[in-house]
Amino acid sequence: MNLRGKTALITGASRGIGRACALKLAESGADIAVNYSSNKVLAEEVVRMIRQMGRQAVAVQADVSRQKEAEAMVETAIDALGGLDILINNAGITRDALLIRMKEEDWVEVLNTNLSSVFFTTKAAVKYMMKKRRGRIINISSVIGMTGNAGQANYSASKAGIVGFSKSIARELAQRNILVNVIAPGFIETDMTNILSEKQKDAILSMIPLGRYGKPEDIANLAAFLASDESGYLTGQVIPVDGGMNM
Ligand code: NAD
Repeated sequence: MNLRGKTALITGASRGIGRACALKLAESGADIAVNYSSNKVLAEEVVRMIRQMGRQAVAVQADVSRQKEAEAMVETAIDALGGLDILINNAGITRDALLIRMKEEDWVEVLNTNLSSVFFTTKAAVKYMMKKRRGRIINISSVIGMTGNAGQANYSASKAGIVGFSKSIARELAQRNILVNVIAPGFIETDMTNILSEKQKDAILSMIPLGRYGKPEDIANLAAFLASDESGYLTGQVIPVDGGMNM
């Protein structure tokens, strides 16, 4: 994939899938804005690695669940990198509980962080991309957004919401040459899934036809393709990367 001359903003990019996307896009030639919410040290490390590849990079602190911070983040990224061609909405959290035990704050926090953030960030980025008449939006959902999962009603609703949001704006923005697609990861080995017990992990593994958990790089490889000119006839799609878990 050749992303030379392109600029990308990736939310929640100090670790996990976001970090892998930042490094892959940089390796493919893009300059990168690395958003983080609290871990500046990890974000600066990603920036350092990208600069070592000869690309521009900047760390941008923002809690993307807050509209003003999301808007300021997009502005800072555009100013620092001189433009914005690619936005990857990756930041996300879980607050798992069965419905009858789920607190209102678990619901609100997950919906704000996983879904409202995508609205805030995308709206700010699209204002710029519409003027340029080009752009790529890549939203990270989950297979759980399609299948549901006991104990994850809030998370599943937020991830299903990303799908509806993305398809709607893909239709709105196609004429402006702004392409919007969704990646739906299966089980990927990151800090988010490390909290599961070995028993839970084994149960998940038994449902994966390819017989292994996913790696953050498995998601990053598709993100790089969706960011590239080679995927120019692809919009409004939800692409699972799950080892065949959800056929
Ligand atoms: P992770 O916990 O390692 O990464 C999530 C990142 O989002 C962290 O860097 C975190 O700081 C950031 N973040 C959280 N709240 C934020 C906020 N308010 N503002 C800015 N950044 C914030 O987990 P991950 O597995 O790398 O998850 C990345 C994305 O992939 C998430 O949206 C997650 O829902 C999705 N996903 C992960 C899996 C999996 O199996 N790991 C599966 C499906 C979907």
